[in-house]
Amino acid sequence: MIIEPVARTVAFKPGERNVFFHLLTGCNLSCRHCYINPSQHGTNTLPLQTVLKWLKLFARPQQETNLILLGGEPTMHPDLAAIIRAAKSMRYAVTVDSNGYLFHDLLHRVTPSELDFLSFSLDGPDSAVNDPIRGENVFATCTDNLQKAVALGFRTSLIYTVSALNIDHLHRMPELLAKLGVQRFFIQVIGLRGKPAAGKPEKGGQWQVDPLHWLDVVPGVAREAAGAGIHVTYPKVFLDPEDVFQCAGRVAENFFIFPNGRVYQCPLCEDYPIHSFSIEDDQLVQRNGLNEDRFFALDIPEGCVMNKLLQPDTLDYLADGTPGHRISCCLLKQEMEAVG
Ligand code: SF4
Ligand code: SF4
Repeated sequence: MIIEPVARTVAFKPGERNVFFHLLTGCNLSCRHCYINPSQHGTNTLPLQTVLKWLKLFARPQQETNLILLGGEPTMHPDLAAIIRAAKSMRYAVTVDSNGYLFHDLLHRVTPSELDFLSFSLDGPDSAVNDPIRGENVFATCTDNLQKAVALGFRTSLIYTVSALNIDHLHRMPELLAKLGVQRFFIQVIGLRGKPAAGKPEKGGQWQVDPLHWLDVVPGVAREAAGAGIHVTYPKVFLDPEDVFQCAGRVAENFFIFPNGRVYQCPLCEDYPIHSFSIEDDQLVQRNGLNEDRFFALDIPEGCVMNKLLQPDTLDYLADGTPGHRISCCLLKQEMEAVG
């Protein structure tokens, strides 16, 4: 018997460590909502030996650490297969987040047992929705390679970045994911970083989705995908009145590493030189000054302080001046899976 899937908030677990490692900022695509900001994070590709030294800085032999290898497009790194193998030997659980082009024959240079998850990004259930956002022919290439990965036995996931451009097509994704054989579905919310921070998608348009529209669509689609046997994760975004606000910067260990050595704890801060740490001479150094970590300690009625500072348009207020919704930490997730 399948029990109706129910959303559960994934609380920050003490001791859990997530390392998001941008190996390079280069990419073969030019998505309209790309959050990569070369003026802040450089244009270099980290050499293999440097990657290995930096991985050692964050590895913990006594416990598994989640490692997400990113770019740019991480499969453009010529040594990605060697990086994956080395990371596994350091007790990382490794995920590669790819745009689906899978350069350097990745599917044949690592085995499914060496890679915990291969993640693909699509922003629409067909080329008519996806390609105007991610580029011509991207839907066909990505789904083609995804099917090859599934056929070879890789565990796959798919990331869909929800914006005003594609939220009304999200409901068609569960059917596609089931057809493709994807095991995990990550619904993300567009952040105003990189290109979206620089301007609206078109005259009179906007990137962000209003709260009621999000709540009207996303949990229902998640339930449907979970009902099809797919494990779904999506950001909490709006806290319920009974929810306690927590900033991951205070209670969790997340590191967002860029190839110029910046290490952030909060992804919302990535457009600004306020990173908590930097890697200098292959050593992790905590930075002094007014950086992101000084803001994590501030308690405000709106919830996330960085959201209020950087994305105030996402907030709405009642007549008495109190916030209509409290915004959760962007790293707080909901999970849904069918229980059989
Ligand atoms: S695939 Fe990723 S890195 Fe490349 S342009 Fe798109 S969003 Fe940016
Ligand atoms: S998104 Fe907000 S709550 Fe989460 S780590 Fe950043 S500042 Fe803290």
